[in-house]
Order: sequence, then structure tokens, then C-alpha cells
Amino acid sequence: MERIDTYKHKGMRKKLVDTLRSKGIKNERVLEAFDNVPRHFFMESGFVQFAYKDQAFPIGNDQTISQPYTVAVQTELIDPQKHEKILEVGTGSGYQTAILLEMGAKVYSIERYRELYLKAKSLLNDMKYHPYLFYGDGYKGQPAYAPYDKILVTAGASEIPKALFEQLKVGGSMVIPLGGRSGQEMTVVKKTGEDEKEEFHHGSFIFVPMVKGKDTNNNH
Ligand code: SAH
Repeated sequence: MERIDTYKHKGMRKKLVDTLRSKGIKNERVLEAFDNVPRHFFMESGFVQFAYKDQAFPIGNDQTISQPYTVAVQTELIDPQKHEKILEVGTGSGYQTAILLEMGAKVYSIERYRELYLKAKSLLNDMKYHPYLFYGDGYKGQPAYAPYDKILVTAGASEIPKALFEQLKVGGSMVIPLGGRSGQEMTVVKKTGEDEKEEFHHGSFIFVPMVKGKDTNNNH
């Protein structure tokens, strides 16, 4: 599929970056990544014209591409550095994955819907990004590549998944929205020892829920 990034798209992206700045995003490296990644490539065809609105949109399988502000907050909190190993749970459209890659991180990302996994894989590959993508259950993490410097969960979880905490380096941190279905608290979990952690809260958000097990209903 041909994907075109026009001056008009670039202009709308600059406005989106201004919006993110006005909402409190300060990290210039994060803002630069938002300026560089064409969000309209990650949208379902019916919603492409809304790609630069600061809103979440459907991407199929009852899931959403997160609101840019939410992606920006999570990215600022995870603060990706070049060559860091970051595990993302919830690839979805692959937009957050692209932002992390754009900032130079080595990204491992898991998605429980095969269809979304395949779509993100083909798009990111076309865009010449090189993430390690997996179709599986993010509750289990990806032990074969552990430990990770950082872990980013992009779905709402009721608690910190044990396997994810285990796969995090001591000294590393996890960004995870914690709470019930109606809303979650953005939480940074710092792993201070093998069995020790500190938690910091960064405001309320609403994510689609993190669901146990990979989806096996759609085997295309
Ligand atoms: N970062 C994505 C967010 C998509 S929404 C984007 O902006 O496009 C969250 C994603 O998490 C959904 O695609 C959902 O299917 C996925 N998800 C939920 N529970 C999961 C689990 N246990 N393992 C892997 N992915 C999961």
C-alpha cells in the first residue's frame, strides 16, 4: 500500500506538537518524535482525516490507537534512551512502537490480536523500522529477551503483572496504567531490588483493558 506524507500532513503534525506542548509535554526529544512519525499511516481508512486530532480512534478488534497526549505522557515517563531495551505490551496500531523506535530504543512489543499484530508488522516494516513484534499474551512478557531496561504497558491493568516485574532489570522502570475498567492511574513502578519497588502516580487516564491470554478467535 502506498503511503504519502504531504506538506499538509506535516503542517497538521506541527500543530499537534504545539497542542502537546500546550498540554504540558516538555521533553523536546519526545516532541521531535511526534513531529517525525506520520500518525495518519496508523489510522483505519475511515478515520485518516482525523489523524492529527488529539483523540483516540478505533483500529479494529474493538481496540483503539491511543490519544497522542496519552502516548506523549507515557513516552515522557518511560524516557527512552538510544539502544535501551524496551518491552511494550499492547502493540495495537504500532504508533507508540514507532515513537519509541524513532527515539533510538530497541523495541520488543506484544499484541494479543493476531490481526493487529500482522497489520503493525507490515506497516512498521514498510516504514523501515525494526522492532521485534510478537503475537502473544503480554501478561507473560517475553522471557526469551529479558531482562528489559524499561517496560511500557499501553492497556489498563488491575495490578502489576508478576512476569513483567520479573523481566525488568533492577534499577529499571515500568510505566503502567493501573486501575479498574472505568479509569486508571498512570503509574511508574521503579524496580529498586529483586523484590522491591517504588510507585509514583501521574494522573488519571482511560485505556482499553489489558486482557489475559491471546485472542484465538481470528486466525487470519
Ligand atoms: N499503543 C497502542 C495502544 C493500543 S490499545 C496504540 O496506540 O495503537 C491497547 C492494546 O493492548 C490493544 O491493541 C489490545 O489488544 C492490547 N492488549 C490488551 N491486553 C493485552 C495482552 N494481555 N497482551 C498483549 N496485548 C494486549
